[in-house]
Formats: sequence, C-alpha cells, structure tokens
Amino acid sequence: MDIPDATATRIPTQGTPTADLLAEIDTRRGREPDVHGARLFGLVYPTGDHELEDLITEVNRRYLFGNALNPFKFPEIARFEGEVIAMTGGLLHVPAGGGGSMTSGGTESILMSMLVNRGRARARGIERPQIVVPVSAHPAYAKAAHYFDMEVVRVPLDAHFRADVDAVRELVGERTAVVVASAFSYPFGIMDPVAEIAAIAAANGAGCHVDACVGGFVLPFMEDLGHDVPPWDFRVEGVTEISADVHKYGYAPKGASTVLHRDADWFGHQYFVYSDWPAGLYGSPGVAGAKPAAPIATAWAVMQWLGREGYDEIVRGLLATTAIVRDAIASLDGIELVGDPIGPVLATRSDTLDLYAVGDVLDDRGWHVNRNVDPPGLHMMLSPAHATVVDQLVADLTDAVGHHGESRGKEVRYS
Ligand SMILES: *Cc1c(COP(=O)(O)O)cnc(C)c1O
Repeated sequence: MDIPDATATRIPTQGTPTADLLAEIDTRRGREPDVHGARLFGLVYPTGDHELEDLITEVNRRYLFGNALNPFKFPEIARFEGEVIAMTGGLLHVPAGGGGSMTSGGTESILMSMLVNRGRARARGIERPQIVVPVSAHPAYAKAAHYFDMEVVRVPLDAHFRADVDAVRELVGERTAVVVASAFSYPFGIMDPVAEIAAIAAANGAGCHVDACVGGFVLPFMEDLGHDVPPWDFRVEGVTEISADVHKYGYAPKGASTVLHRDADWFGHQYFVYSDWPAGLYGSPGVAGAKPAAPIATAWAVMQWLGREGYDEIVRGLLATTAIVRDAIASLDGIELVGDPIGPVLATRSDTLDLYAVGDVLDDRGWHVNRNVDPPGLHMMLSPAHATVVDQLVADLTDAVGHHGESRGKEVRYS
C-alpha cells in the first residue's frame, strides 16, 4: 500500500478545479475493486438493484449535510432513527419497554453494549468485569475490553464450530459481566447455541449479547421462508442485547448499525451526558459527537422500500446462490465446508489441498475471496449480486481446486 507519510501532502495553495478532482478520484477508484462487480466478499453487499441504489443516492443527496447529534434541532432525523430501531426491534422481537439506538457500525454497537454491561456488572460490585466470548466472535469484543478495561475470557468451540456450552458453563463466574453468542459468526457463518448460553448467563446474573451483526437481517427472513432457525433473538429469555447491522445484509451503505436492549433503562446507560462546560447540556448515546444523518435516513428508506417481502425475496435468492456454491464444494474432492453454516457465509477447509494456493488462483481470476486461519481455508460471504456470477465462481473454484501451484503465502486478513 502506498500511503504517503503525514508530511508529504499539503493543502494546495490554489484550489483545484472540480473536473480535475473528479478525474483523479476516478483514477484512484479505478485501482480498487468495483463495489458493484460482485467479485468482492464480505466488505460490501451489493443487491444489483438499480432502483434501490438510485433511491439510496437520492436520500443521501438530501441528508448529506445533516447532523444527527442534536435531536431537538433535527427532530425528523431522530424520528427516522427511532423508526429504524422500532422496525429492527420488530424483526428481533424486542419486548415492549425495550430500546436502542443506531450507531456507525457493528463495532460501535458492540462497544455500546459492552459499556452498558460493564455498568451493570459494576453496579453489582464487580471491579474488573469479564466478557465471556467464543473464539469465533468478532474482534470488536476484544476492542471493547481494551477500551473499557474489561477482561476477555475466551470460549473454545465444539466439534461443530459452535461455542462450547460446557466450556461456557465452566468459564462463567462471579466476575462475568456478559456472555456473547453469535447469530451467526463471521468466520464460519455458524449459529452459537444462543438459548443455552443465554440461560447460563441469566442463571449467573450476567448479560447475554447476541451478535447478529451479519445474521440480524438474514435470520428473520429465513424464518419467514420456513427455514429451521434455532431460537436466537429476544424471544430467548436471558438475551439482554442484540447488535444488527443495516449496512450489511440490510443493504444500506456503510455507517448504519443498531444496538437493542431488552430494557430501555439499560439503553439509558448508553448515554453520556455532560453539562460542566460553558456551552450547556451535551449528550449522546454513542462514540460519535457530530453524527452523519445520511446513513440514518438511508437505512430507514431502504427498509421501507424493500419491506418484509422485499427482504424475503432477496434472502430466497441469496440462499439459492448459497446452495449452488455449497453443492459445488460438496462435489469437489479435498475441499469441504467448515461445520454446517446456516446462511450465506461459507468457510472451507481441506486435509489434502493447500486452499491458500487455490485462493491465489481465484485472485488471479479477479475474485476477492477471503482466507481463514483456523482452520486454514477460504471464506466466502455471499451477497445478492453474486447470483449473477455464481456459475463463473463455481467454474473458477472447480478449476482452481483441480489446478493450482504453490501458495504465494499471502497474509490472512479480516475481509
Ligand atoms: C461485521 C461484524 C461486526 C462488526 O461490524 P462493523 O460494522 O465492521 O464494525 C461484528 N460482528 C460480526 C459477526 C460481524 O460480521
């Protein structure tokens, strides 16, 4: 990566004409993967629906300069946010009396939940509370522990790559603030046993955060379509918080996530309120001060435009694409799925093949397939737009599994 040092670039003495700037931006953007090309996995979630994308552009034009920091000055932005939370809460069956907010992303949603859980634990007299979290959970929990001086207790996985319930039972103790379960996990697309984990948490007076950052806008629609989805949302007693990202399978652009609490009082603990300065009362429920309004209005518009039926339809297609990729993997010698993923996130492993070398061949063919470290393998997070390229993907994967050289030893990174 060619990033100049902090002293290399100066604001130009004279301004630069619009056309020149756009030309340079287009040149630079041309060196990056096309976010509409359906060759990326995980980082972007294109639907391939031009009408929806046009709507998103229009909403952004209207709200690009807004600021969601002050709900008194911009009550309609606050109302959009409230409606996104209510719509998401409906999907996740948050009971009456629940609450929550939008954040900039899954990481901030998780940070806010961990902060509230730390507060609940401190109120019980626990000085350095613990986050009990499966090893397959997102790094955001470690980040929260790092920010908030909490301790991470890592839960191993069982033979099916789910959080090991027996281990959870052993590891949860007096200092546990919160136990985490993923629905579903990023590395493997697998559901942790939420009901069992939530019960253990509740029996110990701890919170239970369900990470539905990826699954939150997939699982409710799978249920609509009649798929067998184990209980994971607020219908499970003991689940205290859920994070769900609208900017992943909710199909809004980046900057839109939700964090919901079973109890609005707990949501109240997300707020930082301060008045000990010359400019009066200041309050916010998240990390941000000034807060972009466009992701809020856009998330609202996307959810309204698609409607439950729109999401159902997308998930139907997504699962059809997933089935094609799964069948292809099952038919190939030497490569197999890691466990039994519930939805569109697939991880592969092999006892005989160097899957990183297979990934290198796919890279050469223009795919941006991700790698997992443990077990070593390829990671594919399928999006709706992959339906248009799935035959090519399967052909290239088949070819790559059959004919590959040595791995180039590319470093394994998240996304
Ligand atoms: C993406 C993701 C997160 C973090 O979300 P960001 O929007 O990247 O901050 C958390 N948990 C899971 C399971 C995720 O896939």
